[in-house]
Amino acid sequence: MAKVPPGKQGLATRLVGAGRKPEWTGPAVNPPVWRASTHLYENTAAQDAGRHVNADGVFHYGARGGPTQWALAEALTALEPGAAGTMLYPTGLAAPVMALLSVLKAGDELLVADNSYDPSRSFATHALRDYGISTRFFDPLDIDGFAAAIAANSRAVLLESPGSLSMEVCDVPALAAAAKARGLTVLMDNTWAGPTGFAALSHGVDLSILALTKHVGGHSDVMLGSVTANAEYYPRLRKRSLMLGQQASPDDCALALRGLRTMDVRLRRSSESALTIAEWLQTRDEVSAVLFPLLPGSPGHDLWKRDFTGGCGLMTVIMAGSDAAARDRLVDALTLFGIGYSWGGFESLALGVHPERDRAAMPWPPRGCDPQHPHAVRLWIGLEDPADLIADIEQALAAWRTP
Ligand SMILES: *Cc1c(COP(=O)(O)O)cnc(C)c1O
Repeated sequence: MAKVPPGKQGLATRLVGAGRKPEWTGPAVNPPVWRASTHLYENTAAQDAGRHVNADGVFHYGARGGPTQWALAEALTALEPGAAGTMLYPTGLAAPVMALLSVLKAGDELLVADNSYDPSRSFATHALRDYGISTRFFDPLDIDGFAAAIAANSRAVLLESPGSLSMEVCDVPALAAAAKARGLTVLMDNTWAGPTGFAALSHGVDLSILALTKHVGGHSDVMLGSVTANAEYYPRLRKRSLMLGQQASPDDCALALRGLRTMDVRLRRSSESALTIAEWLQTRDEVSAVLFPLLPGSPGHDLWKRDFTGGCGLMTVIMAGSDAAARDRLVDALTLFGIGYSWGGFESLALGVHPERDRAAMPWPPRGCDPQHPHAVRLWIGLEDPADLIADIEQALAAWRTP
């Protein structure tokens, strides 16, 4: 039988093989940790020649990474059709920061989808402002409104789909087409679905941003970010990132490579459990709305089905009524769900969220939901037995009902 060419392999096969170049791994299965600041040259001629090649795979100096970082970057590039390369960062937040700094200059305007992750919003409205770059928020569910909002100095648009607090799925191809028609660069935070769930570059995105802290790390023990870019944007992303001293630690990259190998099975399990839990939550009187794109009938489900190949177990549950204290009692009463930031680990988490604090162009609760019910809990469904998680939520709902 003919060998299947790597480009034609299924996603699960590519997750297993990605980044494992023999010259970087040796006989070890997963790329080992190469710790190095100094890389030694054979002689001065080789050192001089080294100045002229700046690429992953070429030893130069630790600031440009070594085989462990190159293996992770290459793996992420291989998972994203249309990608020319990937840059790595020491946190997820540094990824949108560096992507934006590589495409914007003084006098430009940035358009930011109003469902975007708050630290990205704050970076735009505070830090970018100090560099002479203005920011405007828009409703990403209103495509005509977005097209009309593009101004002469609008240079780039930052999308997030679904929004990581409020779960709106955006029509990324339509938004990207409207942006491209006016010459804008399209950036997207793809952390929720990741490269296995949404092929960002194939849907019109130029720079795809991931908090690897979430699904790729997968075990709540590493912070890391990445930006994967197409051929038009990768060179400037690389240049600006290295100029600003950005590099990820090889130890963290080794953890991320380990996480990557099991990411597909973890996300499938988390999504499946989350769907079971979301269906159950929907039947409860205490719940006003379940915002979870995988759930039929949930806002954005049709777009999710059209564009996505997967998802994850992150959902937002809007509680009935208007009692904020009841929402907090519910979160406090959960025993299998930790109260903490982040998601994507093997363990379940719960967090009271306040999307209304970060809204400039969209309503909270979302259109179609009861405006009298504003209090929400975000749930990350980990790898526990879903029946145990449901039993835990059921006993916590008793605390919601009774002070
Ligand atoms: C968590 C997160 C980030 C930032 O990642 P950190 O590693 O926590 O800095 C960026 N975007 C989204 C959507 C996230 O959920």
